[in-house]
Amino acid sequence: MTTQPEVITESREPDPGTPGQESQFSATRGGESKRSIEQIALLLFICIPFVALAAAVPLAWGRGMSWLDLGLMVGMYFLGCHGITIGFHRHFTHGSFKASRPLKIGLAIAGSMAVEGPIVRWVADHRRHHKFSDAEGDPHSPWRYGETLPALMKGLWWAHMGWLFDEEQTPQGKYAPDLIRDPAIRRISRDFWLWTAISLLLPPVVGGLVTMSWYGAFTAFFWGSLVRVALLHHVTWSINSICHAVGKRPFKSRDRSGNVWWLAVLSCGESWHNLHHADPTCARHGVLRGQIDSSARVIRWFEMAGWATDVRWPTAERIAARRQEDVGEAA
Ligand SMILES: [Zn+2]
Ligand SMILES: [Zn+2]
Repeated sequence: MTTQPEVITESREPDPGTPGQESQFSATRGGESKRSIEQIALLLFICIPFVALAAAVPLAWGRGMSWLDLGLMVGMYFLGCHGITIGFHRHFTHGSFKASRPLKIGLAIAGSMAVEGPIVRWVADHRRHHKFSDAEGDPHSPWRYGETLPALMKGLWWAHMGWLFDEEQTPQGKYAPDLIRDPAIRRISRDFWLWTAISLLLPPVVGGLVTMSWYGAFTAFFWGSLVRVALLHHVTWSINSICHAVGKRPFKSRDRSGNVWWLAVLSCGESWHNLHHADPTCARHGVLRGQIDSSARVIRWFEMAGWATDVRWPTAERIAARRQEDVGEAA
């Protein structure tokens, strides 16, 4: 069978914004068996950044961690993460619900505090990713350089972090004109440096004031600012790299997006990425039984409070229509 879906009908002509890109993409999509060395290399790529991050923490700070630092780290992590997933991604990029004016502004600021770039650039890049997912024009496909093992390693690096250093920018006027037209959103996007400063300074200020010491401010900065931002960056980038290389693919999508269960909690539900590409405007990504999706839960709370309306919740028929006939696992 073919994995070309009926559900997505956007055009796939080469992006005029990306002249001369020498990408090589195979016409085949998923399902092929991989050599074992590829599996090992993938596993190493997946594990090493997380092991390094986990190892750096006790090495850099052998004195343990206070409850205050832990609270600041977890609180700031999930504030920024939900700002990205609910705000930048599900609301601003895909319009999966309508937000009241205060909620819209709040989500734009919370997402900016994740330090993943100004909102307009984030949304423009991500809309382009959906338009060309895993084909020429996608700003961060791990399949950019081809299907051989060295090409995939190079591609995973590119999808994870390399693309961030690309000089070529997604044209914002073309991909996010709706956001540019909104003066408040434009302002929040331009003031990205301010949200970054607040995001990094808030933990040490709270830590310093609560403990009334410079030492307390420093440890709060280490855990609540540095470690928190590093972890959130790697988790977000993993959606672009890992979730386009491995994972289960129970739904029809024209790309290689996969559902990766072990990233569900840390990614606030975004790692159910195969469903997301099969049904991009759906407000819930973890649609199957037992799939944790904290972003969908918070959107439901916003809806109950009357702040979110026209929420595009999945229906049984919509989910069934997007199911693969044969459930493929490509990892
Ligand atoms: Zn994707
Ligand atoms: Zn998306």
